[in-house]
Order: sequence, then structure tokens, then C-alpha cells
Amino acid sequence: MKIMNAVIGATALAALSLFSASAHAAGYPERQITMIVPFSAGGPTDTVARLVAEAMSKDLGQQIVVENVGGAGGTLGAGRVANAEADGYTVLLHHIGMATSATLYRKLPYDTLNAFEYVGLVTDVPMTLLARKDMEAKDLKGLIEYAKANKDKVTVANAGIGAASHLCGMLFMSSIETPLVTVPYKGTGPAMTDLLGSQVDIMCDQTTNTTKQIQGGTVKAYAVTSPERLDVLKDLPTVKEAGLPQMEVGIWHGIYAPKGTPKEAIDKLSKALKVALKDPNVDARFAELGTKPSPDADATPEALKAKLEGEITRWKPVIEAAGQYAD
Ligand code: ASP
Repeated sequence: MKIMNAVIGATALAALSLFSASAHAAGYPERQITMIVPFSAGGPTDTVARLVAEAMSKDLGQQIVVENVGGAGGTLGAGRVANAEADGYTVLLHHIGMATSATLYRKLPYDTLNAFEYVGLVTDVPMTLLARKDMEAKDLKGLIEYAKANKDKVTVANAGIGAASHLCGMLFMSSIETPLVTVPYKGTGPAMTDLLGSQVDIMCDQTTNTTKQIQGGTVKAYAVTSPERLDVLKDLPTVKEAGLPQMEVGIWHGIYAPKGTPKEAIDKLSKALKVALKDPNVDARFAELGTKPSPDADATPEALKAKLEGEITRWKPVIEAAGQYAD
């Protein structure tokens, strides 16, 4: 009888807590939401997150506050969200690194495909191959010659193993069959500061961090990784035009929540994302930074899930061929 009572008690308690979770979710969001960016403030992922978070906040009626948790190529921040309370008040804005780190790290503090709920895709940003302003090479051919001739001293900045800058740098090095010296940062915001000061030689980074610098002539730019030239950087050849088609890559960004986050919360976040991506300010700022908002059909949990799965499969053999692992 005692056992019976205990079982009934436990079942009632579970039902009650389920009820109160969905009752909470119905009124969601009732307070501020934290959006974790797994890289430093002032970098390209941070820029995208802040623009989108502001526009989503308007739709949700609650503020989304961006928190930067940089380190270990984005895996620290992703791990933070994987282990956060699944209540809809902690989300993650990450990029392609979510897929590449699944292969680059043989051990992660989370199971990439099973630790998250999906909100939707945000934007697909091209990368640009840059060098310090005083780099003598005039074009990509010249940069390759310089890199090959000075391979023991040429430094390539990145945001750690698993970052987009790491992937792009890895594609550059494997395309020219020349390993160079890599210098990791917690994000390409601080890496850009060092590139501007000529403390590092080369960097690959999203246009959301590089367009203004390229336009202002504070860095040398050699190519863009998109299939077509960009309106905002008309003179910059594509990697295909410049002779390294293997470097073509798009840095897709997505929003995630911890596994088990109530569906009502995910639905509201996903709707707010769609609204944010139609915000004229987001659209205009993205255009200035060489990118555009994802279409409605992509700002969905299903589209992000499919993208992540497809990209893990796509990059696995490339990373394995390069033989680069974080551990
Ligand atoms: N652009 C960085 C990367 O390489 C991250 C950042 O700082 O936003 O992934």
C-alpha cells in the first residue's frame, strides 16, 4: 500500500510538473532571455546575434541579452547551452562550427545531434581571405607564393579549432598543400585587432566582420568564398575566379535551445526569428555587411536540423583528409 501510494504520488508530481512547465510555456516569455554567442564580443557572429536578438526581442516582448562565451572554437559556448535549463530562457546562436566541431573534436561536452532543439537558420555569410595591410602580395597567386616561400613564419589567425576561420584557413592550407603557423583567439574580433596591427599575417573571416575593413583599406583582401562576387565588394574576386575553388564555403548560422525546451517556447522563438529576418534594419545592416537574411522556409527547426545533419556529413571526409583534430 505504501509503495502504491508512493507510485501514485510520484506520478501525480510528474504530471503536475509537466503541467506547470507547459503552463509556463504558454505565457512564455515572462522574463529576459539569454542568447549565448560562442565567440568574443565585437566579432562577426556577435554582430549577427546582436542584430537578430534586438529584432526578436521586439516580437517576443522581452529582451534577449547576448552573452559571449568564447573559447575552444565555439564548443565552450555550445556546451554551456547544452547543459543549461531547458526552459526557453537560454538559447545559442552558432554557425557552421556546430557541424565541423562534431568531427574535429573526438570528445565534446555534448552530443551535437542530440543535445539541442532547433529554432531556425539565420543567415549564410561568405568569408573573405585577408592579410595585413603591408603584405606585399598583390593577388591570391602572389599570396600563395609568399606563403609557400615563408611557411615557417607566416601566421594565420583563427578563432580556435571548430571556428569558421579555422575551417576556411584549413581549406586554404590544404588547397595550397602548405601548412602554416596558426594563432588561435577566442573570436575573430580580437584576431582582427592583431591583423590591423600586423601582429598576424593572414586571416579568413566572415564579411560581417571584414567588409568595412576591406572598404576602408585597412586590410588586404584576396578573395571571397561565395560563388558570386558581392555587391558591397565588387572588386574582390571569388575564390573560384582567383584559382582556389576548393575554398568555396558559406558560413550558415542557426539558433538552438537545450534539448527538452518546451515546444511552445521553440515555436515562439522560431516565429520571432522569422519576424526579425524581415525587419528592415536587419535586412539593411546585413546587406551592408555582405549577407542577407535566411528566407522564411529556412528559419524553421526542420531546416536547421536538416542543415546541421547534412553539413556534418559534408565536412567529415574533408576534415578527416586534412587529418586535423583538436585532441
Ligand atoms: N568568425 C569567427 C569564426 O571564425 C567567430 C567570431 O568571432 O565570430 O568562427
